[in-house]
Amino acid sequence: MRHGRTVIFHIDVNSAFLSWEAVYRLHHLGGKEDLRNMVSAVGGDMAMRHGIILAKSIPAKKYQIKTGETIVEARQKCPGLLLVPPNYGLYEKCSKAFMDILRQYSPAVEQYSIDEAFVDMTGTEGLWGDPLTAAVKMKDQIRDTLGFTVNIGISENKLLAKMASDFQKPDRVHTLWREELRDKMWPLPVSDLFFVGRATAKKLFSLGIYTIGELAHADPHLLKIHLKKHGEVIWAFANGMDVSVVQSEAPANKGYGNSTTIAFDVTDASTAKLVLLALAETVGTRLRAAKVRAEVIAVGIKSHDLSYASHQMTLQNATNITIEIHRCACQLFDQLWDGTAIRHLGIHTSRVKDGFNMRQLDMFDDTDYEKLERMDATIDRIRGRYGIDSVKRAAFIGSPIDHMSGGISREKRTVDYKKIGVN
Ligand SMILES: [Mg+2]
Repeated sequence: MRHGRTVIFHIDVNSAFLSWEAVYRLHHLGGKEDLRNMVSAVGGDMAMRHGIILAKSIPAKKYQIKTGETIVEARQKCPGLLLVPPNYGLYEKCSKAFMDILRQYSPAVEQYSIDEAFVDMTGTEGLWGDPLTAAVKMKDQIRDTLGFTVNIGISENKLLAKMASDFQKPDRVHTLWREELRDKMWPLPVSDLFFVGRATAKKLFSLGIYTIGELAHADPHLLKIHLKKHGEVIWAFANGMDVSVVQSEAPANKGYGNSTTIAFDVTDASTAKLVLLALAETVGTRLRAAKVRAEVIAVGIKSHDLSYASHQMTLQNATNITIEIHRCACQLFDQLWDGTAIRHLGIHTSRVKDGFNMRQLDMFDDTDYEKLERMDATIDRIRGRYGIDSVKRAAFIGSPIDHMSGGISREKRTVDYKKIGVN
């Protein structure tokens, strides 16, 4: 019996965007072919010049097609690759239905990305049975009611649960308890360890470390010399140590926020700040549309190592100006960020005020806020009339980052299936 032990599930939708598209075509469009069994991928954003692969089928994986690479690269590896456009509106709906099922099992659900979540199942044995039984029930319920499959990893912490969900796919449940590390995780190549990227793996190879087990048994001081703080982090991971807790969402407070999971890991501040600009655009637009201003700006960072940090500041004057929100967000980001690769960024605003805005004068600040407000109002009007892409900040030209990220508008974008044709 594992009585009293912490039980964490990591649930990961198998080839999420692709599965969701496949299910939609089969069940709602009368499609006969299942994209999941074909050499196929979701590629987008087609409208942007630098389209990347967002998801691929298991058969496409055999051609070494990787999420995050460009469509051009993918086509070089496999000219016959069937590409389908992204449909964010559909993903939002599928994601929500998926999360709703998870919340039937436990109140402690942390949505980690659009298709991944951690659930703290500690103490639910009386309701759902032992962890393995509960996970099979959860997995089957998702498959039978929503039509797509998930993998569930079970362990006593988030890291090991996440490692376990990545074992053999699809439609599987795997445990990775601490006592199973030796058999199930240590024989794996070190590059399979969460948080070991290509560059880190290369350094580890040069130290003669090829498996996760070899890393676990390496001298942490030596790792620190060669890999700095990151060396200690991955050494702890290889030994199954992780103390982060499942962060259920904070109750929705009155405010306006937006966040985005980035398709690739952001490792430099300037890219992160560009993402923050895209978020400031959508948050600012929403505040202005509601004719309100916010006094508190907060930034949240979810890192590749599962940690989450957020920071907020109170402004002297409430604002809804895009570049002012962005300036605050960058300041918070600089205070917060420790250099860890970033998966997800968010801006949240609160203490919202409506009505007339009296700006307190600051003799050290000669910014013409009225002019900035007029500029935002003009941009909003143009976008309202000609679409959100009609005006774009120069910083986004040639960048793979959507200049209006995490927002309302993009998710409403749908696909014209008549034009594509579904088989
Ligand atoms: Mg997934």
